[in-house]
Amino acid sequence: MNPETPNPFDEYRDAGSDPLVRVFAEYGRDDLGWFLLGLLASVCASLVALLPPLVLGVAIDSVFGGNAPFSLPLVPDAWLPTTRLGQLWLSALLIAAGFVLGVVFTWLQGIGLSLYSNRIQHAVRTDAYAAMQRLDMAFFDDKQTGQVLSVLNSDVRNLRMFLDSSFSGAIQLVASVVAIAGVLLWLNWQLALVTLVAVPLLLAFTVRFMRTIRPMYAALRASVGDLYARLENNVAGIEVIKASNAEAYEEGRVAEASWDYYLRSWAVAKLEYLYQPSMELLSGVAFAATFLLGGYWLVAGPPPSFGGRLLVGEFVTFLFMTQRFVGPLGGAGRIVNSYENARASAARVFGLADIPVTVADASDAVVLDGVEGRVEYDAVDFAYSNGVPVLRDVSFAAEPGETVALVGPTGAGKSTAAKLLLRLYEVSDPGGAVRIDGVDVRDVALESLRGAVGYVSQDVYLFDGTVRENLLYGAFDATEAEMVAAATAAEAHDFVERLPDGYDTRIGERGVKLSGGQRQRISIARAMLQDPEILVLDEATSAVDTETELLIQRALARLTADRTTFVIAHRLSTIRGADQILVLDEGRIAERGTHEELVARGGLYATLWSVQAGEIESADPAVVERIAGRARDGE
Ligand code: ADP
Repeated sequence: MNPETPNPFDEYRDAGSDPLVRVFAEYGRDDLGWFLLGLLASVCASLVALLPPLVLGVAIDSVFGGNAPFSLPLVPDAWLPTTRLGQLWLSALLIAAGFVLGVVFTWLQGIGLSLYSNRIQHAVRTDAYAAMQRLDMAFFDDKQTGQVLSVLNSDVRNLRMFLDSSFSGAIQLVASVVAIAGVLLWLNWQLALVTLVAVPLLLAFTVRFMRTIRPMYAALRASVGDLYARLENNVAGIEVIKASNAEAYEEGRVAEASWDYYLRSWAVAKLEYLYQPSMELLSGVAFAATFLLGGYWLVAGPPPSFGGRLLVGEFVTFLFMTQRFVGPLGGAGRIVNSYENARASAARVFGLADIPVTVADASDAVVLDGVEGRVEYDAVDFAYSNGVPVLRDVSFAAEPGETVALVGPTGAGKSTAAKLLLRLYEVSDPGGAVRIDGVDVRDVALESLRGAVGYVSQDVYLFDGTVRENLLYGAFDATEAEMVAAATAAEAHDFVERLPDGYDTRIGERGVKLSGGQRQRISIARAMLQDPEILVLDEATSAVDTETELLIQRALARLTADRTTFVIAHRLSTIRGADQILVLDEGRIAERGTHEELVARGGLYATLWSVQAGEIESADPAVVERIAGRARDGE
């Protein structure tokens, strides 16, 4: 592995097993039939290809030259015709049959191996995708989405390409080399040894090439991942790039990543172009030596230390065979190359699949049933992967149906506290716990947990698709009537009806773009359909017009009526009625109580309240400065 481009997917991979062998072991079994068909056809194709030169040699010596009796290997002489014309007919027929069968077997090989490799590609891709989905949120915080995409796309495709063509090429190569070596030895073992001297040389050369190029391929695949990561980041952040006049800067960064990829491809290609022709040269030298010695034998009798007889036809067959032999050997470079490329890709695929997941169902996970909605945080500490404490000793309890508001300066840890309830992250100190109806969320089956806790965000992600598909997201089997009822309760029905195709309008097409307020109402309707007992509400930071605000508040009031609700509040006016307000400051609960209690107390909440009410003059200047400082650091 090149230390300059550490492969982010190699830390946890089981290094004991060869990644390509693992591909076969884990994915190759189901379609083994197709594989065997391809394999068999491929071997047969190499064997029938030997028929024409064999027959040709025999024909030259016996039918045309009359120097030897007409005899074919493996066929009893009694079955063969005795007239020369008959022998010519049979020879022609056999040569033609060799070509026809060659086509049939090549076709079967293509079908078998293509089906096999495409099915493996499908299985590997869907499995790698599922593995990616199971990964902890913490994995995605490191912004590795581009790397993940490159594994799911480019590395999986690389595997298929190898299985599809190079793999069968390798099998054919081995089959023909073995078969031809046998025929050569049978025809004239002395001359055969001259040709075969090339084989160990080629093998040694190939092994050396593989050792050199392996780390280069690993680095190449990693640089593809880096390039993808850069591109993906920039497409996602295009608005910021444009708004910040950062086009030139980003072009530079993309060029850098692309140039790195180029350098690594070029390093591989340089070696490849040295190796491949060298193999061909070596094979060519073996061919020339065979031609020279055999030719000398025909012209002037056996060369020194050779003995016996060599016929012209035999020699022609021999030369044809030698060519069939050295041709594929010379091409072995392409196969080895593609093997190393695929091996590096397989390593990345398994590197992704082997990343350990901490947020997963325990073996005895509890399925929540008839949730009442009591939520309890008990001495919760939390830090993200960088280790900086974000929540410290957070404890509180919410009774079923209560509304708890989390307020506090930016970066205080409000969203983080809510994410722990959904178990997107795990409480850091095992002594602390988040419990629903008294059950630790770590003991609850994830599916049941996330069915019981709904999440409504200000900045909801709408998937590419129709309004209907987006509404039904997460409640896939809801009926049309349920959907319309939810949309109506969420104050979304009216605006959806006015869209060009109503519920079937594709979002993002033909200028149909939903406003922030509309997206929020879609999110509320989604939660209504999901009908969870507990809700997390990430309140909008951006202001909407008063009319929309009214609609949203009305919809939210309906949604939260009988549910335990956590509101991550940015505007304090909306949470005046909350049963409990928790004021977070630097990860601790600094104050708690109702709105009236907290205002009366004159602490952090009271200051935040006066700032929002526009009475900044009456607020404690020291506290205002501290909040401003936190906001500056946090944003
Ligand atoms: P709030 O919702 O109160 O604004 P957050 O819970 O979003 O605060 O963030 C609390 C702190 O955790 C901040 O300092 C923030 O920078 C940090 N933080 C948030 N998300 C991550 C993350 N995925 N990885 C590392 N640090 C994070």
